[in-house]
Amino acid sequence: MELFDLDRQYSAIKKEFSKKINSILENSDFILGQEVRAFEEEFSKFCHTKYAVGLNSGTDALFLSLKCLGIGLGHEVIVPSFSFIATSFAVSYTGAKPVFVDIDLDTYSIDTKLIEKAVTKNTKAIIPVHLFGLCANMPQILKIAQKHKLYVIEDSAQAHGAKIKNQFSGSIGHFGCFSFYPTKNLGAAGDAGMITTNSKTHYRKLLQLRDCGRDKKRYEHIIVGYNSRLDNIQAAFLRLKLAKLAKWTAKRIINANTYNRLLKDIEGTVTPFTPKGFKHVYHVYSIRTNKRSRLIGEFERNKIPFSIFYRLPLHLQKSNRYLKYKIGDFPVAEKVSKEILSLPIHPNFKKKDILKIVSIIRKVHYGKN
Ligand SMILES: *Cc1c(COP(=O)(O)O)cnc(C)c1O
Repeated sequence: MELFDLDRQYSAIKKEFSKKINSILENSDFILGQEVRAFEEEFSKFCHTKYAVGLNSGTDALFLSLKCLGIGLGHEVIVPSFSFIATSFAVSYTGAKPVFVDIDLDTYSIDTKLIEKAVTKNTKAIIPVHLFGLCANMPQILKIAQKHKLYVIEDSAQAHGAKIKNQFSGSIGHFGCFSFYPTKNLGAAGDAGMITTNSKTHYRKLLQLRDCGRDKKRYEHIIVGYNSRLDNIQAAFLRLKLAKLAKWTAKRIINANTYNRLLKDIEGTVTPFTPKGFKHVYHVYSIRTNKRSRLIGEFERNKIPFSIFYRLPLHLQKSNRYLKYKIGDFPVAEKVSKEILSLPIHPNFKKKDILKIVSIIRKVHYGKN
């Protein structure tokens, strides 16, 4: 039993990738390049956006979105208190201040009832995180953003292909920020990321920001830019996997439904909640359990892989101490970080292994088989 199936994903594209990598090496077409342009076009189609900008990472997707909007010193950006650290780091890199808001206990994404209390005259943007593969409550977030004239930057790093009704993750706010870190639902052979947008003006500025501030003539640097480019080899790898993503996501959903069915009546556990009209892509399958440490002990004894996203909310990370939050500030995020536990969910995970995991969970929660 394994937590990820990267070896089997690779087997599915190995032959075609070998051919592509040879031609890239023979042509020495390494940075940006033909595969990057094709991947950007295919990925923007996949997200139903007009534009997509290939980058070196999901972290830089968030960072460059903020830079593109001119956000920096003296500004505030609202982020959920429960996410991967990059969500708040991207804000810190710009000089702006991350302002945390607690999460919703059912969906684990930002609690929209609490956002307006965090808005000040310095607030410029909200970064909702589509945590674990489920979109945040975007209709509500857009309403608040419109009222206060705020930008909305979707952290879609865990939500490739997730939907609210017929709207795709990454196409709902002003920017969609994706990561292709190897273990994400769409994973590169290294680091990679993408910004999606419908704004031509922002698209053009992002092309400069990712490539040293170059204008089209290539020899003039007209803004302070960065080296955040996507490699051609990564793009070739990602294009081959993108063609399989719908099938792989469907398998994740089948596995999640199996877990949901088998776990729903076990007292002391809570399975993931999907609001009506939302499509969850289960980057992570997380349950909450009131017996986490005993369950972990049993998993370790039985060699069951698992992980915990996240053991510490963002406001309690040492690196964020300068923001002066304390224990008790965000009770829901703190509760969830103590109870959350994620189970293997990858497309190649077998039903018999799900049954085994469920029987261990049942035993721990009821003290019997
Ligand atoms: C993975 C991830 C990121 C960062 O992506 P990298 O490609 O690792 O830089 C940002 N936000 C969330 C929620 C993530 O899961």
